[in-house]
Amino acid sequence: MSIALVTHPDYVKHQTGPGHPERPERMRAISAAVEASGLQEHLAQITPEPVDADVLERVHHRSYIDRVKNLAVEGGGHLDPDTVVSALSFDVARLAAGGALRAVSSVMEEHRAAFAVVRPPGHHARPSQGMGFCLFNNVAVAAAEARERYGLRRISIVDWDVHHGNGTQEMFYRDRSVLYMSTHQEYWYPGTGSIDEHGEGEGEGFTLNIPLPAGTGDEGYRLVFEEIVLPVLDAFAPQLLLISAGYDAHADDPLGGMVLTRAGFRRLAELLVTSAGRHEARLAAVLEGGYHLAHLGRSVVATLEAFTGGTALNGETDEPHSELPYQQVATRVRAIRSAARNYWNI
Ligand SMILES: [Zn+2]
Repeated sequence: MSIALVTHPDYVKHQTGPGHPERPERMRAISAAVEASGLQEHLAQITPEPVDADVLERVHHRSYIDRVKNLAVEGGGHLDPDTVVSALSFDVARLAAGGALRAVSSVMEEHRAAFAVVRPPGHHARPSQGMGFCLFNNVAVAAAEARERYGLRRISIVDWDVHHGNGTQEMFYRDRSVLYMSTHQEYWYPGTGSIDEHGEGEGEGFTLNIPLPAGTGDEGYRLVFEEIVLPVLDAFAPQLLLISAGYDAHADDPLGGMVLTRAGFRRLAELLVTSAGRHEARLAAVLEGGYHLAHLGRSVVATLEAFTGGTALNGETDEPHSELPYQQVATRVRAIRSAARNYWNI
């Protein structure tokens, strides 16, 4: 019952071009940090397979899948100014979705928890539009397949990336079997994720957005998790808990304005480990963003520390960062809690 670390050497073959923050070196930084951590004895290294187009079709339209494929066959192109398809990207993106899927099958069948270290990331990918560095929505593919293959009826996705996972939200907006909860920086890319977006129809209440002011750090996030995320998980009682694990809310990340540290990420992961344990939920994390190479590696290790219960050898802490006054986050938390009470007994 060790922890599964799902990754593949081919993830570096998705080429985004010079100067792009979502670069192959992200994978190398994470493997180097894991190697230096001394945590390997707790980790089972697993190599995934690419998913077929029919698995992608659970959340993406066929015409969009074909578009990405054709762009790759033609040698590459752009889906938007930030989102690149290179010659091998179709295969690598199917392999990224395969990584998320393998993380789920490993926790359903064998391991206590899993982390899929994949690229390209996925949570901005919409049913028929890739954007924000994302081609296919890895975590959504995994959630849809978990429902199909294992008959799960209560899956939760907690997305702590600094950006709102607009693609994931859209895919499950009318769906009560997948509870999507996102913490993200307010008024930030891609502009969605307001408190008023809370699902529709059958899915009303099963999308919960927690936009936070820039400058929120370890204490603020802890408050959000303890006061909103965990109580709602208690009410929902997930069978599978997925984390859209982005690390661009780190204090030194170039693409975000939050001030989380690696200790903060470890704490959030520990809270979710405890919550999953309480509900006998399987737990799997899927990598999203995170663009400061050294901190990305260390923050993934911090998450793995929480999963394994171990301590990394390179356990030094980050520089302390001054975070937003606690009261400011507390006021936001009260407002969101009160809105969430329309749907949840928290
Ligand atoms: Zn992000």
